[in-house]
Amino acid sequence: MSQSETNCLCGAVKITAEEVNPKFTVCHCQSCRSWGGAPFFAVQCGTKVKIHGEDHVKQYESSAWASRGFCKECGTHLFFKFKQSGEYNMPVGLFPNLAGLEMDMQYFSDARPSYYCFKNETKEMTTAEIMAHFTSAL
Ligand SMILES: [Zn+2]
Ligand SMILES: [Zn+2]
Repeated sequence: MSQSETNCLCGAVKITAEEVNPKFTVCHCQSCRSWGGAPFFAVQCGTKVKIHGEDHVKQYESSAWASRGFCKECGTHLFFKFKQSGEYNMPVGLFPNLAGLEMDMQYFSDARPSYYCFKNETKEMTTAEIMAHFTSAL
């Protein structure tokens, strides 16, 4: 875990994440691919996240359990936030200098289209495994 600071492209939003896990997850679900045009590379940042310039952040409720935040001025994607836990997942690209970055997990591996693949050897979870995991967590 390490602390990291970042900002959106235009600088209107500045973020300090106190506990960033450098073992990141790649999500292949259609929502993530529609949102960003590609799979979502996300680092888990927990709940100790300070956002400066919150007036410039727009949150879109993308599902019953989470919302996606972006800068209203420049469109930089800032976070995927779980409603219940308040935990943030943020794009790896916002933290290029984070020590120990490593692709650790791929979500919705069965939804991964055939037109790309990664060489990285990672853990994977299918849609069914993710649904079972979250249902048992409720
Ligand atoms: Zn911005
Ligand atoms: Zn996703």
